[in-house]
Amino acid sequence: MKIDQSLFTAGQHALNEAYGACPMCDGELRIKYVNKSSFLSCSNYPKCDFTQSTKKAEVSTLKVMDGSSCPECSSELAVKKGRYGMFIGCTSFPECHYIASQNKNESEDVSACPKCNKGNLVKRQNKFGKTFIACDAYPKCKHIENPG
Ligand SMILES: [Zn+2]
Ligand SMILES: [Zn+2]
Ligand SMILES: [Zn+2]
Repeated sequence: MKIDQSLFTAGQHALNEAYGACPMCDGELRIKYVNKSSFLSCSNYPKCDFTQSTKKAEVSTLKVMDGSSCPECSSELAVKKGRYGMFIGCTSFPECHYIASQNKNESEDVSACPKCNKGNLVKRQNKFGKTFIACDAYPKCKHIENPG
């Protein structure tokens, strides 16, 4: 499918400044539209293949792991940073949702929230660096457990 870029040019230009600089090369981040979704990509592409989701910028790619390959789609894997810390995921995200379980203890910790039964309990950190367990359905569900 071809996208008529001119449709986006006006809005795109106005938005450009808000996205700031690429964390990998200091290039300008630009918004790209693919299949009705949008993401940020570096203006130095293809030299720099930094991309970032525009969905609340929850996950950012820190480093593409050279020579790695995703067991599901054979794309390269990358170290990413999300709401709950660093993880290793596929560079083809969101097409491929592969995530390597880096830390077994952490994935075993995931259990359903006893209060809302929809969310999962996840480790979080408050601004003082204290770890606590909270429901990922927050703010809908405010269930919190104190480990220890
Ligand atoms: Zn860049
Ligand atoms: Zn993949
Ligand atoms: Zn809950």
